Amino acid sequence: MQSVIVHYQEIALKGRNRPWFVERLVSNIRSATADLGVLRIRSLMGRIEVQYESDEHWDEVRERLSRLPGIANFSKAVRSKCDFDVIAETALAELADVEVESFRVTAKRADKRFPLRSPEIERQLGGRIKAARGWRVDLERPELTVRVETLTDEAFCYLRKEPGAGGLPSGVSGRVACLLSGGIDSPVAAYRMVKRGCRVRLIHFHSYPILSHTSQDKVAEIAERLTRSQLDTRLYVVAFGDIQRQVVLAVPAPLRVVVYRRLMMRIAERIGRASGAMALVTGEAVGQVASQTLENMSVIDSVTSMPVLRPLVGMDKEEIIREAREIGTYEISIIPDEDCCTLFTPKHPATKARERQVEAAEQALGVDPLVDEAVASAVRREFTFPAK
Ligand code: ATP
Ligand code: MG
Repeated sequence: MQSVIVHYQEIALKGRNRPWFVERLVSNIRSATADLGVLRIRSLMGRIEVQYESDEHWDEVRERLSRLPGIANFSKAVRSKCDFDVIAETALAELADVEVESFRVTAKRADKRFPLRSPEIERQLGGRIKAARGWRVDLERPELTVRVETLTDEAFCYLRKEPGAGGLPSGVSGRVACLLSGGIDSPVAAYRMVKRGCRVRLIHFHSYPILSHTSQDKVAEIAERLTRSQLDTRLYVVAFGDIQRQVVLAVPAPLRVVVYRRLMMRIAERIGRASGAMALVTGEAVGQVASQTLENMSVIDSVTSMPVLRPLVGMDKEEIIREAREIGTYEISIIPDEDCCTLFTPKHPATKARERQVEAAEQALGVDPLVDEAVASAVRREFTFPAK
């Protein structure tokens, strides 16, 4: 049997909500590792222990845990009785195949009834390891850190810390609806909200069959990626091509981008509300493209009474790209495809759309039936991880 010790950080700070946050994390870990021979998951004095059958699953366990929000770090650990001699024996056995020049021991005593204080555990265990292996103790820059955590009945020993995704466990912060294009930015925006514990519904507008099916394939793949972190994802796919054609007929070219966005917002608000979302999310950043000015953002936001969250608002493109690479959406986003908005987009969109002009144009267009129709025709897809 193997153990993994999972540490959470931020959720430890959440006061009276803490047990609920931890339960959520435990249940997310359970779902994420459901098919990996996990025997037991339990919350243990400020950490979580995951027990699983065999070492052959470790790589996959590691991969999956590293993507789950709410985990600060985790470690493959061996468990022993909470008795100093047994702990020392266990640690020495763990070190049997290890060869280093310098090391230190770092101990944490969770149950203060354990007779040795942490510094004493460190000193005494360090002494035994030094005597057995001849390695030099180096407290500042050790090549290896042997970590020991003593609880009430058991102790854990481990040698490596794997970085977690950070953030909050999926599901503790309520639902949002993210407008997801096939581009680089919005997947990162969606991920950031997943990481803050939100359940992120995705809404994609496509112009199929005027344009290819690529954008829908891309967002499905992006949804799959995000599902590895939030474990289930609902994607709504909305036909937008006809609406765009009508906008082209009724709206002066410089105002079209803002009108498209306002229509997207209205449709997303309706779909979002119906699925319990409390806010809308976009991948916009101030000044990134001509249409993403503060003026335009305010004209776009005024069609909805929901908060519009823009998690990337202050980021540079370079930073966004770096993050997209880290979360694995970049490679999908750069697959060439015609954006539904570039097809009908003028070369020089208004950077300071006036709300009154936009409203007049929308009056001529007649937005309500367009929104109704789009909402009614939205197609829903569900993603779960691990896939059923
Ligand atoms: P992205 O990289 O996310 O496509 P972008 O830099 O191309 O963003 P815009 O085209 O101005 O910027 O889009 C701004 C935001 O509007 C996107 O981040 C996304 O949230 C939303 N959006 C744009 N096009 C679509 C679409 N086809 N479906 C859903 N949302 C969209
Ligand atoms: Mg785009």
